[in-house]
Amino acid sequence: MSFTLAIVGRPNVGKSTLFNRLVGKRLALVDDQPGVTRDLREGQARLGDLRFTVIDTAGLEEATDESLQGRMRKLTERAVDMADACLFVIDARAGVLPADEVFADILRRRSAHVILGANKAEGTAAEAGVLEGYALGLGEPLRLSAEHGEGMGELHAILMPLIEAAEAQAAEEEAPPTDIDVDEEGETGLSHTPTAARPLQVAVVGRPNAGKSTLINAILGEDRLLTGPEAGITRDAISLTLDWQGTPTRIFDTAGMRKKAKVQDKVEKLSVADGLRAVKFAEVVVILLDAQIPFEQQDLRLADLAEREGRAVVVAVNKWDLETDRQGKLRELKEEFARLLPQLRGAPLVTVSAKTGRGLDRLHEAVLRAHDVWNRRVPTAKLNRWLAGMVEMHPPPAPGGRRIRLRYMTQVKTRPPGFVVMCSAPEKLAESYRRYLVGGLREDFDMPGTPIRLTFRSQS
Ligand code: GDP
Ligand code: GDP
Repeated sequence: MSFTLAIVGRPNVGKSTLFNRLVGKRLALVDDQPGVTRDLREGQARLGDLRFTVIDTAGLEEATDESLQGRMRKLTERAVDMADACLFVIDARAGVLPADEVFADILRRRSAHVILGANKAEGTAAEAGVLEGYALGLGEPLRLSAEHGEGMGELHAILMPLIEAAEAQAAEEEAPPTDIDVDEEGETGLSHTPTAARPLQVAVVGRPNAGKSTLINAILGEDRLLTGPEAGITRDAISLTLDWQGTPTRIFDTAGMRKKAKVQDKVEKLSVADGLRAVKFAEVVVILLDAQIPFEQQDLRLADLAEREGRAVVVAVNKWDLETDRQGKLRELKEEFARLLPQLRGAPLVTVSAKTGRGLDRLHEAVLRAHDVWNRRVPTAKLNRWLAGMVEMHPPPAPGGRRIRLRYMTQVKTRPPGFVVMCSAPEKLAESYRRYLVGGLREDFDMPGTPIRLTFRSQS
């Protein structure tokens, strides 16, 4: 089963052109069963080193009894349900039309992954249309020119991790159950493999000897292992999926897993580079500190990377059992945290002992909450009321006597939350004003500990 990308969008935006570019002559598998996938073209795409299946909702223009809208909707829904991800194409020259909104609606409700492609983006005539694309609330539009082959590198960069993750998941599902604990009823943990819901993806990172292995083993000790460890996400990273207190969770890259899995006899300490790699796969990154030597250079690097990669972050302070003055230590840690990692303001700091198992409940809670915040979406109306209040409280500067006007604000993405503020003269707004708004968003919409992206754009 190969990864499937559906190309959807209203007629004339360039879907077929894009399909042909991706598939070339490798058209295949036209299903001639009436009424099933007759209207969906399917082909084998090649994009750099990536191979995947692409389906196109062609033939919409053909007249039938049904209304175009109705047909479009049905066909799109069918394509979306068949696909692992959707490339939703708009015409950047035409801008966002009402019909595009219909598609955006379907995709928001139905698709696991939506890539918004603003096609016909060659040249400058398309710039306004690309920006309008933000308002669809599907993230940053990817500038494409199907006709000229522009944007293919970016498309590759977006698809690669999705395809890798899908392949890893498929491999995991097919893998024979190695080293699975069998409980009294003779039932293996495998029967609990979550299929519908995607597991929460967590990386535990930190300097060597912070206690990562011990922590993972403690979590494994408590809860059943769902699937065997799997090498091959990348050359070095491995992952395993388990039921962490009722939450299907995939944990990336720890020496502990290798120990438990007996993948290797000799336990190999993973380097910081492995940690960096694990961060890229994770939704939530747990930075495990050693309470005795917290906030070392390596920890700071990992934390900073997690923030820059836009991951939800939880800081866990390990070996808390060795602490005598816990209150004093905690105060000190919080101060250091605020000073050394201001970019992670509000991220939860949890004390644990991997050795005794204390604090693992709170860690679990903190991870779930961080994930929830990371996925949060604030309604546009609410945001704009809020923005008006923020502007009134602290108006933006007026360089040369002309006050910069903030016109409109919308959340363009989640995971992590990203916002765009439309305004006059964005280049003149100081970084401090951005920080003011980001800080306000954090407080007022209760979004601690997640990176928040906010950009200013001019409307023209
Ligand atoms: P579909 O109905 O969405 O499948 O759209 P088509 O692929 O048939 O394209 C519709 C029209 O847009 C055709 O005339 C294409 O040549 C044109 N087109 C497609 N991609 C581009 C592009 O990147 N730039 C420009 N300027 N035109 C394009
Ligand atoms: P890793 O390199 O991050 O995987 O660290 P390990 O899990 O191998 O732990 C390094 C050392 O710290 C080992 O000797 C562990 O027994 C010890 N250790 C780990 N967690 C704790 C803890 O919560 N309390 C105490 N006292 N020692 C711990």
